[in-house]
Amino acid sequence: MLMPDGTLTACYLEADRWREHGLDHTVGYVFKDGNVAIDTNNLERIRRMVWHKPRCERCFCRWTCAGGCHISLTPPDCSTDYTDECIQTRLISASFLLKTVADHKSVAAWLNDKAAHQILAEQNDDRMLNYNGNTE
Ligand code: SF4
Repeated sequence: MLMPDGTLTACYLEADRWREHGLDHTVGYVFKDGNVAIDTNNLERIRRMVWHKPRCERCFCRWTCAGGCHISLTPPDCSTDYTDECIQTRLISASFLLKTVADHKSVAAWLNDKAAHQILAEQNDDRMLNYNGNTE
């Protein structure tokens, strides 16, 4: 976002909203003569924020959702529990993934399988490392 004072940010919320969580989403500045300065260190730090989100490190949506909004959904002090938005993201992502690997009938079966939705919503760790094969 380009702010009226020339600041470039990685977020359209007011700066006070990030600062409440100890975040700085400034990525650069556009000078009056049109020159632009980019803070590549801060840009890289923001890009890597998803690496350090305890809630997201066990979720298969980690690299697509990227933790959603760093301020309203997964601020540094957020709980590790999935929110309603997380569950929604997980279900939609699973549906899209299934569409890429399965036929229409299988996708339709998944979309109508409330028990499968519940399992996915409640599964608190998607990593193969921790998979025990239990889907009950
Ligand atoms: S769905 Fe929730 S837990 Fe998963 S990556 Fe997105 S914010 Fe993180």
